[in-house]
Amino acid sequence: MRIAQISAHTNPLAAPGGRETGGMNVYVRELSAELAHLGYDADIITRLDGPLPRIEQLGPHLRVIRIEAGPPEPLDKSVVATHLPQFADGLLRFAAELPEPYDIVHSHYWQSGWAGGILARAASIPHVVMFHTLGEVKNRARISEQEPAMRIHHERLIVQRADAIVTASDHERGLLERYYGADPAKLATVPCGVDLEHFRPGDRAGARTALGLQADAPVLIWVGRLEKLKGVDILIEALAQLDDPAVTLLIVGGDEHAEGLKAELQAQAAAAGVEPNIRFEGAVAHERLPLYYHAADVCVVPSYYESFGLVAVEAMACGVPVVASRVGGLISTVTDGVTGYLIPWRCPEPFAEKLEVLLYNPELRRNFGRAARRSVERFRWPNVGLRIADVYDTARAARRAHAGAAESPAFGKEVYEAAVLLGNRR
Ligand code: UDP
Repeated sequence: MRIAQISAHTNPLAAPGGRETGGMNVYVRELSAELAHLGYDADIITRLDGPLPRIEQLGPHLRVIRIEAGPPEPLDKSVVATHLPQFADGLLRFAAELPEPYDIVHSHYWQSGWAGGILARAASIPHVVMFHTLGEVKNRARISEQEPAMRIHHERLIVQRADAIVTASDHERGLLERYYGADPAKLATVPCGVDLEHFRPGDRAGARTALGLQADAPVLIWVGRLEKLKGVDILIEALAQLDDPAVTLLIVGGDEHAEGLKAELQAQAAAAGVEPNIRFEGAVAHERLPLYYHAADVCVVPSYYESFGLVAVEAMACGVPVVASRVGGLISTVTDGVTGYLIPWRCPEPFAEKLEVLLYNPELRRNFGRAARRSVERFRWPNVGLRIADVYDTARAARRAHAGAAESPAFGKEVYEAAVLLGNRR
């Protein structure tokens, strides 16, 4: 079975921690690798964003395909949106030349959903979509810039037309039903996977020495794309309230695009008197991240919204308890009072209170850490990969059951044009 994994707006092979490179990149590349491992032929299809080969074999059954759309350099995702027709056109042309056609299109984020939908309809194959973030939900969180109406309009169309929609949490599933009118029969909740061999408990003392941290001082860690939605401002206030000059907060993530927010956070930290307690580490390679988690006592995820929150699961996999906002996917990954704490209010006081509880009670922290590691077994990739494969099988079976049903006239012209491009192969 051949699967097209589409990631139009961001390159799944790019290093995470930049403005547009985070959980989705890690997810797409690891899911594709897992599917290839299961024997599927998986193509990761992305936009050509540098002087790179158009087709690259990453391993048995696993390739990356780069489609020309706009200048071959990294672009802001709002600019990528303007090149989507070219991306979809390139996708159709590429698919038309394949010796074996795709059986499934799996699109990530609305931009890929738009382009992937065109391919799926042209080839009459199921379209599986995963949004990762939703415009309507971001707008309701009211923390970053308002998402354009055009995005939400397309998200609604994609929801209506998709064969299956994968959500990473029950919370996201509810949002799709409530705000997008998604048909519950099309929704499948499959949590994201995490590499539990890579993220595992490790040598705390060694990690601290390697990172130049004191052996016994309290250490907090935050990891992610440095953007407002991640709530680092709340964490800095909470740090100020802890009022312990020995505490170090490691902020991991952020590239040159995050310099503005970084400067704001530094100014906030200086005003609160905690600037010397914070180390901005910049983006750290995914391979090296366990070292950072091992050095930490607690991982803090103070996001205003998080559709899944891989960082929380990675930290727990390393045996590190998590103090997180009670939002989105974090509700189903962190167990309050067992593997960490969930904070229902977006204000620093309750964060500081729970951080204090964990930082100054080593025994409790160790118990939470052990429970945390046990709790993440369900996110093991082989389990997650099989569940996604089930979604594909169900979508294909539903297609077969409806074979011969008339094509919706609304798509007629688009499908006709695309089918001409594909040479009516199906
Ligand atoms: N990440 C990384 N290096 C960094 C910052 C982040 O490898 O410097 C990875 C992190 O390990 C996680 C992902 O980026 O796998 C962030 O995913 P999450 O779901 O927490 O947030 P998202 O990016 O989806 O908002």
